Amino acid sequence: MSKEEPTLEDKLKYEPEHAWEKCDEEEIEEIKRFCEGYKEYLSYAKTEREVVDKATVLLEEAGFSPLKGMDSLKPGDKVYFVNRNKSLVIAVIGKKDIQDGVNIVTSHIDSPRMDLKARPLYQDNDSLMAVFKTHYYGGIKKYQWVSTPLAIHGRVVKEDGTTVDIVIGEEDQDPVLVVSDLLPHLSKKAQSKRKMKDVIKGEELNVIVGGRPIDDDDVEEKLKMNVLKLLNDEYDITEEDFVSAEIEIVPAGAARDVGLDRSMLGGYGQDDRVCAYTSLIAALDLKESERTAIVVMFDKEEIGSVGNTGAASKFVEIFLSELLELANGDYTQRDLQKTLSNSRAISGDGSAGVNPSFKSVHEMRNAAKLGKGIVLTKFTGAGGKFSANDAHAEYVGWIRGLFNRNDIPWQPCELGKVDEGGGGTVARDIANLNIDVIDAGPAVLGMHAPFEITSKIDIYHTYRAYLSFLNSE
Ligand code: MN
Ligand code: MN
Repeated sequence: MSKEEPTLEDKLKYEPEHAWEKCDEEEIEEIKRFCEGYKEYLSYAKTEREVVDKATVLLEEAGFSPLKGMDSLKPGDKVYFVNRNKSLVIAVIGKKDIQDGVNIVTSHIDSPRMDLKARPLYQDNDSLMAVFKTHYYGGIKKYQWVSTPLAIHGRVVKEDGTTVDIVIGEEDQDPVLVVSDLLPHLSKKAQSKRKMKDVIKGEELNVIVGGRPIDDDDVEEKLKMNVLKLLNDEYDITEEDFVSAEIEIVPAGAARDVGLDRSMLGGYGQDDRVCAYTSLIAALDLKESERTAIVVMFDKEEIGSVGNTGAASKFVEIFLSELLELANGDYTQRDLQKTLSNSRAISGDGSAGVNPSFKSVHEMRNAAKLGKGIVLTKFTGAGGKFSANDAHAEYVGWIRGLFNRNDIPWQPCELGKVDEGGGGTVARDIANLNIDVIDAGPAVLGMHAPFEITSKIDIYHTYRAYLSFLNSE
């Protein structure tokens, strides 16, 4: 075929290719190898803090240094900055002046879950159970979180500042927790007429943690005290310590291959740790680049990018100011403005893949499909692009060219049909810094569910896409 003249259709028509179709054995092996690393990371890193901790270990192993402690920066230097243990910025200093602009890939490392309340533990005397009260975090379909094994991941900070990290439910011998659903035999009146969002109500997301009384006749609430005693014996914490704790209740268990052909990968928190992992590995694999490469992992995207670890905060600007100061000896506000104006970014985030059972929510020509490579989302938003970052055609043209030159499979998409629903990403916050930015990440099936699905080939090419972008001149 290659020696023949391209047909009129070849020349004029555009249809994103199914990436698996042009994939050889060697590449399949490479994809498999890459995804084994991702699976291991996803199985371990189920909170923002755990993502940051794991990334820090990998960064140190690869020769990156904390930004604090550097007294100057030169091309080739590799640094990182951890913001309050929950967000992370990584930089590989390029040959050009930082003011000429940097290449930024962002992701978010918070995922929907259930957080424990400040006073979570009580005993229910009718059911004879000890229970944790929760407040869900992010946009979950609450009914998905019942009758499934759950784990505890979190940090307790005591009043003297010492910390205790807790992970229960991930080892084979660990107990798990559960929010129990109502049996169908008795749900006719109490539940079956409820609307979907209330099938399980917020105050019904109660996590069962115990059912055995403490062996102590002087104690009133024996079920509750037994749990407190167990936690105290194991972690040296008391009930008041929950007030200054961040304990996340997340799905228990490891990420898994999905499909008889193992073409997909399933696990908790792929939105958006799939982009965090792929951009992290891209930063680790980066050789000397012309422009300074920056990888940012934000917290709080799922609740509106708020707070000082979220994308609306100033910490990326502060980080860039520090880079300018360390690289050039000094900097002005104008230098920072130039840096931002000359920079470009990818907002790495999962997009909605077409689900074979729910095709009607998509307009199929502009829908993302698993296996067709990284998804380019020019605009997000809802109902008339409201609140969207709408990437400029000039920028989309440039990025399309970059991916094509680097043989990276990509597909354009919108998040569902017009007026069907919608969503936003950190792209809006990045664009507010006067940076050109576009959303690009793999398609995800069942986003925000306890078990989210991606295609392995999309994960691999998302990594390649980010690497080519970070490397771009
Ligand atoms: Mn996301
Ligand atoms: Mn999300």
